[in-house]
Amino acid sequence: MLRALPCVSALPRCRATSRWFSEMAAPAEAISKADDVISRTSRLFIDNQYVEAEGGRLPVLSPVDGKPFASIAHASARDVDRAVQSARRCFDHDCWPQQDVQARVEILKRIAAALRTPEVCDALCVIESRDCGKPFSESQGDLGVCADTFDYYAEVAPETMKTTYPSVGAGATHFYARIAVEPLGVVGCITPWNFPLMQAVLKVAPALAAGCAVVLKPSPLASLTCCALGELVAAAGAPPGALNVITGGPPEVLEGGGSTGQYLIDHSMLDKVSFTGSGSAGQKMLEASASKLRPTCLELGGKSAFIVFEDAADDLDHLVDWVMVGIFQCTGQVCSATSRLLIHESLEAKLVERLLEGIRSIKVGDPLQKGTLMGPVVSEGQQQKVLGMIQQAEADGGKIHSVPLELPKELQQGYYVPPTVLSNLAESSAAWKQEIFGPVLAIRSFRTEEEAIRLANDTPYGLANAVWSADRARTQRVAAQLKSGVVWENCSQVLFPSTPFGGRQGKASGFGFEQGIAGLKEFVSEKTVITGDRTGYSWGVYKQS
Ligand code: NAD
Repeated sequence: MLRALPCVSALPRCRATSRWFSEMAAPAEAISKADDVISRTSRLFIDNQYVEAEGGRLPVLSPVDGKPFASIAHASARDVDRAVQSARRCFDHDCWPQQDVQARVEILKRIAAALRTPEVCDALCVIESRDCGKPFSESQGDLGVCADTFDYYAEVAPETMKTTYPSVGAGATHFYARIAVEPLGVVGCITPWNFPLMQAVLKVAPALAAGCAVVLKPSPLASLTCCALGELVAAAGAPPGALNVITGGPPEVLEGGGSTGQYLIDHSMLDKVSFTGSGSAGQKMLEASASKLRPTCLELGGKSAFIVFEDAADDLDHLVDWVMVGIFQCTGQVCSATSRLLIHESLEAKLVERLLEGIRSIKVGDPLQKGTLMGPVVSEGQQQKVLGMIQQAEADGGKIHSVPLELPKELQQGYYVPPTVLSNLAESSAAWKQEIFGPVLAIRSFRTEEEAIRLANDTPYGLANAVWSADRARTQRVAAQLKSGVVWENCSQVLFPSTPFGGRQGKASGFGFEQGIAGLKEFVSEKTVITGDRTGYSWGVYKQS
């Protein structure tokens, strides 16, 4: 069980950890508990209460078998307004932003403890796996990250929110300065479906730690665990309006042509939007914020490279494992997936052979069953997109390496994609250039270090990259030249609550940070106060003589 592994808390957001639990099937009692949680919480959460939406309900299909298994509330413009007004009241009139940071710290710690409670954790993992298709073991890894993230911000908030007193210089004897760190305000948080609860927590935990009030809108493709977060936050002692959760489209549109997400970002009472998702939706966030001159943090997609130098031949077992972690976790639906493998030409044939052996060992199937290492992708649309890109790669002259799926009858309507490796790709091919967001690894070879760096950087994205070599000077030299917000040396996808994560400024993976102190600073506003000492001193510039 997750809670029995002490090292999990040291490996937050480390999707690699989930393989340790891969033998774990979802416990039967957690499966029946999950249904209770869904029926209680799959509504809007406003003012610390579950309420129905005016906009009706949307069916939720499980990617596991393509069948409906729940429904979510579809928030109308008025529902969105209710949620924003509630957050506004909390921020403007409740003591939430003014109260001592220690009181918020205690709430964060209680949320973390609740997430670690075995019955809560297991039920949420079942819901997550059914809703977005990831193996139960991966959901356990995600839940561990969520708890660790609340604890991390509980630990660092007091120091980060402290007023500081900078020196104003030896000559400025009549003045003092202080810099107060204040909560930013009401934040609209919009999140994707690949790590549904975790992506939400990466925003909600630091926002609450800072004293902001949040309106969270998760993806309609996987909202259910975020709905349940509302009651955990309220039960931990957060006042009404500190966290409101609303669900609905896009892509689903309401009567009159609007959508829940668009109504939220168009609302005039938000002080900030924090978004994780695709570049095209990121543009909509900026458009909605532009007329309001509203700060907007964007965490967008990527097409990260994993560079493998010739000396990797000495340690192929570990290398192959990291390469597979980099692309096959969460069925490849990871923004930072190292989806382009750049191999030194001397190793290409051997490594492709080893990867093929590796993908043969991946059990694809029901995410709640024992031994499943890969579930379906999230939706039929995503399945068709990924399969279409594989077909296109073949039509463009690429070579497909894959193993046919063997699915039992009851899963055949689910949204499965075989783990696939593509080689012989042209630099200009879509499979090499574009984010596929599925279990598809694109391979090219290189001859020199300069060529590897050029190929890795030849992308509009700038989220992450990885480099593998036994030569430490080389990995450091290459890391320094890779244009991304994160670089992994001799590993992939490893992140901690304390390490900031975000796209490189100026590239197409967004701007702003999650995790680390930088992730907390996204939700604060610093105020400089300069104090004169009132000792009858003035500059005398306009002195009447
Ligand atoms: P998406 O952009 O389609 O949707 C993300 C969220 O935005 C959803 O909640 C959706 O309902 C909402 N949305 C979409 N259009 C909107 C609009 N006009 N107004 C308001 N809300 C709107 O992305 P997705 O398909 O859910 O997720 C996949 C994408 O997310 C990939 O590109 C992936 O790389 C990216 N991603 C990035 C990170 C990161 O940390 N950088 C993490 C996970 C996913």
